[in-house]
Amino acid sequence: MEHLEEKEDDHEDVMESVESGSNSSLGGPMEATWARMAEEEEEVSIRRRRKLLKGFDVFLRNSAKVEEEVLEKLGFNTTCSRQTRSAVVAPLRKKEMLSTLSKTTRLSQARFLRLSPTANKDAKSKKPEETPSFVMNLFRGKAVSEQVFPYPLKLDDERKETLGMISGPLEKMLQEVNNATRNDETSEIPREVLDKFAELGTCGILVPAELEGSGFNNSQMARILEIVGSYDIGLGVTLGAHQSIGYKGILLDGTEAQKQKYLPDLATGRKFAAFALTEPTTGSDASSVTTRAELSADGKHYILNGGKIWISNGGFADVFTVFAKTPVKQADGSTKDKMSALIVERAFGGITSGPQEKKMGIKGSNTTEVHFDNVKVPVENLLGKEGEGFKVAMNILNNGRFGIPAGCTGAMKYCVQKTIEHITTRVQFGKKLEEFGNVQEKLIDMTSRLYATESVVYLLSSNMDRGIQEYQLEAAIGKILASENAFHVCDEAIQLHGGMGFMRPTGLERVLRDVRILRIFEGANDVLRLFVALTGAQHAGKHLAAQASGVGGLIGLAVQRVTGANTGSDFGSVVDSSLQDSAKLLDEQIGLFGQTVQGLLIKHKKGIVDRQYEMVRVGSAAVNIYSSIAVLSRASHAIKNKASSADFERKIASLYVEGAMRSANKNLVEASSEAENAKLVATIDSLSRQICGNGGLPLQHPIDL
Ligand SMILES: Cc1cc2nc3c(=O)[nH]c(=O)nc-3n(C[C@H](O)[C@H](O)[C@H](O)COP(=O)(O)OP(=O)(O)OC[C@H]3O[C@@H](n4cnc5c(N)ncnc54)[C@H](O)[C@@H]3O)c2cc1C
Repeated sequence: MEHLEEKEDDHEDVMESVESGSNSSLGGPMEATWARMAEEEEEVSIRRRRKLLKGFDVFLRNSAKVEEEVLEKLGFNTTCSRQTRSAVVAPLRKKEMLSTLSKTTRLSQARFLRLSPTANKDAKSKKPEETPSFVMNLFRGKAVSEQVFPYPLKLDDERKETLGMISGPLEKMLQEVNNATRNDETSEIPREVLDKFAELGTCGILVPAELEGSGFNNSQMARILEIVGSYDIGLGVTLGAHQSIGYKGILLDGTEAQKQKYLPDLATGRKFAAFALTEPTTGSDASSVTTRAELSADGKHYILNGGKIWISNGGFADVFTVFAKTPVKQADGSTKDKMSALIVERAFGGITSGPQEKKMGIKGSNTTEVHFDNVKVPVENLLGKEGEGFKVAMNILNNGRFGIPAGCTGAMKYCVQKTIEHITTRVQFGKKLEEFGNVQEKLIDMTSRLYATESVVYLLSSNMDRGIQEYQLEAAIGKILASENAFHVCDEAIQLHGGMGFMRPTGLERVLRDVRILRIFEGANDVLRLFVALTGAQHAGKHLAAQASGVGGLIGLAVQRVTGANTGSDFGSVVDSSLQDSAKLLDEQIGLFGQTVQGLLIKHKKGIVDRQYEMVRVGSAAVNIYSSIAVLSRASHAIKNKASSADFERKIASLYVEGAMRSANKNLVEASSEAENAKLVATIDSLSRQICGNGGLPLQHPIDL
């Protein structure tokens, strides 16, 4: 029981460190389950089970290695059903399992990998949950198409009309009132300019009309952010920091009173909001916030102390969503520091902002430190429940995550359009640039990346509009895909412009500087890739265990491992008939994906958490596959509805899928090349340690002076 208590403690630590786009420990919850299972071991006859398991070596064609190896191969000491585990494995492994990881290791894993609420619910429940999420199911090698086919974007006439009422004037204002170049040069967007955008309704896009907002849905919002992104990413960040994260918590998790009190001023831009999570020692690892809020003696206020860094809108925001540790009473009467979210007004006093940071890009957006010195925050300004601040943060970040992809889509359109104008007029070697094969290839690569990103944005936003709740992995993929494509497309646009691309007046170098941050904030892409891979792997692991829990399941699983059985993917039946070749490529990679994940789970068990080399590749393959699905779904929709661009879309879609599936295959093959990986990872580890231990490169210069 001591072990169990310790593990559940760790599990809570994991839960505390939930941050959107971040991750989960595959260790803590599983160990607690195992400990419970071990307690029940005497209920089942060990001998009887052992006898049954002996037959499985037939399926594994390895009769020499019996029971224990079969169990190993089936991942029994990773994740497995209660009875089977307690009957066969727990007695053999209990000691080993509970001592495998030191408490420090488990804690460090927990700090890196933060549990999503879904994953946690899943871990606590006895039966693995079914989910309609395409990406979650992908990890089981299953293609569940209800969220992706048919392409769900549907804006009724009224929504199109209201969108049109804003988008036209918005574009005019972006051309005539806002000046992206000047904002970049002065590191400021004048308040009068922001006020004009606020008048247009762009500060309260999702807020209901009765609270003075525009009452738009996510797809309408995506279009607005796309338009802004095509002119000025810095302005997009300002509007996004205000509504996609700044006050989003109030909209999603606020009480009725909080909504009534704050949203009208925020939706109209009379006041601005900011999201304050990051601290000097708290970046990707959001669990480590040190800002504290303690209840006052009379219990009416939290007294908030601490400092945040790099807060967008931090210099002028009136309302902050602040994440701070608060002492929370436990069931046993003790208190434990947990993260809580608070709505904090500058007007409460005790808040100071630092100067505008000097940045590489998005210079017009305001980024500052924000300090809280004994700020008295009324207890009614607690957002969500006490101690559940991570949940609030995650909800906000997940929900707002399509904003970056939408802005990226706009930025890419700008870059592609400029490139078209340049290559169709610039003459070299007696030909227009557009006539060179390599130039054509680059243009089509840029176009297909844009098409894929846009397809994912509106797939995501329209799924959110139809009330789908499980989109956290899809949203993370959208953010990774879009931010990387935007940088690549802008870089290629500069390349095709030659020296002209390097010149400020051309307007591309600012975009390159602006989009660079999008791979870092709202979840660094490297961390998000691991989040996707590990959350999906955890889900698959639970199902793998359940599958292996009965005799039939074990046989089926063993056969599947040996034969590489059908995974149930058949996109040929849902995509347009002219895209069958692409559907086939996709089916193959989905099958390979499931087998790769299953193989990795069986081999590395809970150690999969530390297999970043493999997991990053699995995450990348998930990006390749999900974006291909979005592209095929959208193109099929265009063909079915006889869109004017249907033929173009069919061709660009099949080109994109071919490239993406080649990339997915490379990623998956690399992830599953056990022997090569072991050697490679060991070499990388040793070289990296050598460099870091030396405090610099240990290389002798060839001149050797
Ligand atoms: C312009 C700007 C605006 C911002 N606006 C806001 C805001 O409004 N509100 C707010 O709260 N914050 C804001 N931030 C902070 C931003 O969210 C963080 O910078 C971001 O979360 C990354 O944290 P970090 O910079 O501390 O990087 P770290 O966490 O130190 O990570 C650095 C790098 O290390 C690698 N890495 C980290 N952990 C792992 C791991 N476990 N495995 C593998 N690799 C890893 C990744 O490559 C990562 O990019 C802003 C930042 C900037 C620059």
